[in-house]
Amino acid sequence: MPTSPVNAGAPILLGIPFDANSSYRRGPAAAPPLLRRALTCDASNSWTETGVNLGVPGSYDDAGDLPLPDDTSAFPLIEQRVGELIDQGLRPVCLGGDHSVTYPIVRAFGARYPNLTVVHFDAHPDLYDEFEGSRYSHACPFARIMEEGCARRLLQLGIRTMVPHQRQQAARFGVEVVEMHQLPATAKLAFDGPVYLTFDVDVLDPAFAPGVSHREPGGMSVREALQHLHAIQGHIVGADLVEFNPVQDISGLTETVCGKLLKEILGRMLAG
Ligand code: MN
Ligand code: MN
Repeated sequence: MPTSPVNAGAPILLGIPFDANSSYRRGPAAAPPLLRRALTCDASNSWTETGVNLGVPGSYDDAGDLPLPDDTSAFPLIEQRVGELIDQGLRPVCLGGDHSVTYPIVRAFGARYPNLTVVHFDAHPDLYDEFEGSRYSHACPFARIMEEGCARRLLQLGIRTMVPHQRQQAARFGVEVVEMHQLPATAKLAFDGPVYLTFDVDVLDPAFAPGVSHREPGGMSVREALQHLHAIQGHIVGADLVEFNPVQDISGLTETVCGKLLKEILGRMLAG
């Protein structure tokens, strides 16, 4: 459980209950409390596979859920709050929410880490210049991030929904795309500067994680995702877990998987 006082540089959870930029189904706004519940569920213990005990007092903290309006006027509030936590010397781990929230989050990181690499797990490249009339759709955050120069590098893993426009966008921004059929890519995950990790749950095969808005078959197993998370070498300064949609979940399965992912992400941050 989160404890106080927290260690310097500790990860800190921040719920972002926002899904107004979802294009197909809503639901991820309800995810943050469920993600917390899954992280500390008594069905498992507090140790990560990499040997970190998240039950040690001060390991990580929890800033609660950010109260937000139900439209894109939420973005400056997200950016401001994440920036405050970074400026306190902490490492925000944001619980989404739809993937549009990664744009204001990474704006806060980019302003403070000019050499930032973003590592992005997703079935979708989310590089549309605009989607169904919106430039802030959850299909667009990485176009905004790259055109504003918020990240120096963007490495995408598990992509399996490319269309010509998004291939053009990837080429335009110099995005390093590892499509699902090209995995494993564990050898590509050593970084020399600060790393921001963004994990869209739909990178997983829907057999493992049905609780997403856009089920895309042919994805990662939980084990493949963990192998890639564990393989990241570098200093992870922040992370998010997004697009868990409880409305679509079956028997709490995706919630449990998300708890495991969150646990291993925190463990990787603390071991790094
Ligand atoms: Mn996404
Ligand atoms: Mn996705």
